[in-house]
Amino acid sequence: MRTIETHLAEVTALVEAAARSRPVEPLVVTPEALAARPDRYRDRVLAADVVAPIDLPPFANSQMDGYAVSTPGLDATGPTALRVAERIPAGRAAPDLVPGTAAPIMTGAAVPDGADAIVPIEKVTPDAFPPASVDAVVEVPAGVASGAFVRAAGSDVGAGSVLFAAGTRLTPARWGVLAASGIDAVEVRSRPRLLLVSTGEELAAPGAPLGPGQIHDANGATLAAALAEVGVDVTVARVTDDAAALLAVVARHADAVDLVLTSGGVSAGAYEVVRDAFEGVGVTFGSVAMQPGGPQGWGAVRVHDRDLPVVCFPGNPVSSLVSFEAFLRPALQTVTGVGTPRARWTVPMAHAADSPVGKHQLRRGRVDVDGRAHLVGGPSSHLLAAHAEATVLVSIPVGVDRVDEGDEVEVWALDDPARHEKADR
Ligand code: AMP
Ligand code: MG
Repeated sequence: MRTIETHLAEVTALVEAAARSRPVEPLVVTPEALAARPDRYRDRVLAADVVAPIDLPPFANSQMDGYAVSTPGLDATGPTALRVAERIPAGRAAPDLVPGTAAPIMTGAAVPDGADAIVPIEKVTPDAFPPASVDAVVEVPAGVASGAFVRAAGSDVGAGSVLFAAGTRLTPARWGVLAASGIDAVEVRSRPRLLLVSTGEELAAPGAPLGPGQIHDANGATLAAALAEVGVDVTVARVTDDAAALLAVVARHADAVDLVLTSGGVSAGAYEVVRDAFEGVGVTFGSVAMQPGGPQGWGAVRVHDRDLPVVCFPGNPVSSLVSFEAFLRPALQTVTGVGTPRARWTVPMAHAADSPVGKHQLRRGRVDVDGRAHLVGGPSSHLLAAHAEATVLVSIPVGVDRVDEGDEVEVWALDDPARHEKADR
């Protein structure tokens, strides 16, 4: 039996191969595109460095509504009376400042050549702009420093500098910096496209009535939601225990996906559809020394002249979700750069628990206000509702058959760090 670490390395290699088939994609950076398809823009990671094409601000501009003045022309000891020049609104070229004048200037307007400071309107007399048509004089106080309230060109970003390095996740402020720089398209890392197939003769769609012996497909929803959290585009399908049907679904979607994930049909029963379909055509089936999630499949199948990576999880809902946490989530985070790796830390057990000695057991639990690990539900891998109440996986490694109250155990967070802390409080 392989260890969790060995299998994680295997799954990571498959996911990396999947990501290599379509590494980058272009994205348009416009407010229209961001507003129309917000999901396309969430958690995107730059594929290449982006260099600033222009200074930001692109030109020196006023930080206040006020007067543009030349400080060498001001009286150092008392107020200076200046003739009021032509107004400078935002969005216009500014005429040069004539010596002996002060130009009314609006926030964001270009500072005229010949001016080196802005005096805010509330600091001058009179403290309101005169009508544009009137010849007027304004009195500016002493003590105006050169550069006051001028936003220098390049004070936020210098042209030619690296705005964002490859691997940077694009946040609202970063989309804004790109837009402000005039950049209307970037190359981002592609999201892996994954075909998720729930298998089982017994599966009915949520919402469909249950026939005899049927259950609703839980894994499709569970895994689709989990995959979306790490930046994967998911296509879902459901097949009965019919190997030909499974192969047909894979063939139908093969050109539109980079990776296939199946649930169910991998253990030692009489109707193991995933094994029947993929065994001997590039997929290996074996056991990882973990509980839940022991039976696993991995490899690549040849479809339409290429090797399509395939990962196969067992069907029990807790097994498939714990498999996702142990293997696919970290592997996908490595290639997408999306999401924070789950925290792991050590706490004392709140009570005793037994564990199968040859297996790395991952029990569902909560770290409560007492700082101790409390198990939630039993070890059985159909207990998805108990899993839904858990905030951690309690790790009991191979070779340990019992932990007692107070024994230190490693816990693996089931949520991102910030949300996890809140859940604990
Ligand atoms: P299997 O791995 O196919 O032998 O399935 C193991 C157990 O998981 C069985 O009890 C199945 O009914 C159940 N199961 C398999 N797939 C799903 C699914 N998509 N949703 C809920 N339960 C499932
Ligand atoms: Mg099955």
